[in-house]
Amino acid sequence: MEAKRTIARVLEEVAEKNSNEPEFSQAVFEVMESLEPVIERHPDFAEEGILDRIVEPERQIIFRVPWLDDQNQVQVNRGFRVQFNSAIGPYKGGLRFHPSVNLGIIKFLGFEQIFKNSLTGLPIGGGKGGSDFDPKGKSDMEVMRFCQSFMTELYRYIGADVDVPAGDIGVGGREIGYMYGQYKRITSLYEGVLTGKGLTYGGSLVRTEATGYGLIYFVEEMLKSKGETFAGKTVVISGSGNVAIYAAQKAQELGAKVIAMSDSNGFIHDPFGVKLDTCKRIKEVERARIKRYTDEHVLCNYSDDYKGIWNIKCDIALPCATQNEIDEAAALALVKNGVMVVAEGANMPSTPEAVKVFLNNKVMFGPAKAANAGGVATSALEMSQNSMGYSWTFEEVDAKLKQIMQNIYYNSSRTAKEYGFEGNLVAGANIAGFLKVAYAMMAQGIV
Ligand code: NDP
Repeated sequence: MEAKRTIARVLEEVAEKNSNEPEFSQAVFEVMESLEPVIERHPDFAEEGILDRIVEPERQIIFRVPWLDDQNQVQVNRGFRVQFNSAIGPYKGGLRFHPSVNLGIIKFLGFEQIFKNSLTGLPIGGGKGGSDFDPKGKSDMEVMRFCQSFMTELYRYIGADVDVPAGDIGVGGREIGYMYGQYKRITSLYEGVLTGKGLTYGGSLVRTEATGYGLIYFVEEMLKSKGETFAGKTVVISGSGNVAIYAAQKAQELGAKVIAMSDSNGFIHDPFGVKLDTCKRIKEVERARIKRYTDEHVLCNYSDDYKGIWNIKCDIALPCATQNEIDEAAALALVKNGVMVVAEGANMPSTPEAVKVFLNNKVMFGPAKAANAGGVATSALEMSQNSMGYSWTFEEVDAKLKQIMQNIYYNSSRTAKEYGFEGNLVAGANIAGFLKVAYAMMAQGIV
């Protein structure tokens, strides 16, 4: 009873203090919902204010990012870095460049990152950052000037043992390269301050593929628990960015048929199986819209209602685009069409109502903080290689990634059972991620 009251009070305070940040309150609610049996077993967590402290970022930095566009006009964006929790390691988490970015979005992502990073078993704390800058339609030179300006302010707050940003939506190899160059120029330090770097200057093999591959390794374990495999399964993947493309690649390698992908304009439905080479070229080289796919594959259907992708019948659905992209109606449509597994490549892509639909209908559901942790785990492997001054082979990193994803699956599944939520990976991942951070916070005193 006491645990329930404490959680209700913390949630009320979070909602009140952050009333203009709905995504952040949603992310906190989704974690807290699972913690009642934990607080019952560990009343000391509540007594020492662990819940009150864990929902408040250690530090939030907001800054101006002025830059010159190709017409020599001054443009101004807003930059963010939220250093959420450093109990188990230096802050670690991506940078998102997208017009929808605001403090609430960065806080929700930073909060999720704490538990995800903990689940990897590696020593990394939680953080996130970004800007409302939109790289879409900008020239390489505009992107470079923006990235340089962004880093000219951010460099004061980060460092290889302090805070190590990576990519996220809108931030890939090109942006990381420009930011790394500027950090080095300002500080004269050649250190692993960013991950997702190019292979010629300290990047790790497999980092590009890691989130997508890791997602598929995680789903492999989910399927295995029911005696199933990817072979012959139909898969629908939303998005066509970094996570989506490499999830599709690994799923195809394992014998699945990927029949649909999307971007924020619409989706393609190719019942014969999406030709990934075309997709990759369109998205990675041409930086064009997914609709272009139909110019080359005329039997493929295109729809400009990107949410309609969830009406396609499939065995496995992998949301890999953005937050809250599967609502209750989309979840019901997936269930009606007999979906077997839903696993989240994006962060918080399912609304709380959608998650309930999946759990109530016994759909195997892999929550983001467990299923997409492969990216940050491989980033942590990049940090290790940078500090050792050594590089592992593709096979070595891939094997470590696979092992980490298997561990996350078993840890989440075992913890769910131990705390009375058997089969519920949402609760298992929340609790397992939380426990390590809570123990570390307890040991370090009131800080
Ligand atoms: P990318 O920028 O490479 O790709 C994002 C994809 O999602 C694009 O196809 C984009 O379409 C689509 N998308 C973005 N915003 C929206 C929107 N509002 N509505 C519909 N579609 C949208 O990003 P990533 O692949 O890196 O990231 C995708 C998700 O995975 C994010 O939630 C991210 O936080 C999460 N993630 C990423 C990790 C990584 O290592 N990169 C690690 C863990 C999680 P369009 O081109 O039209 O914008």
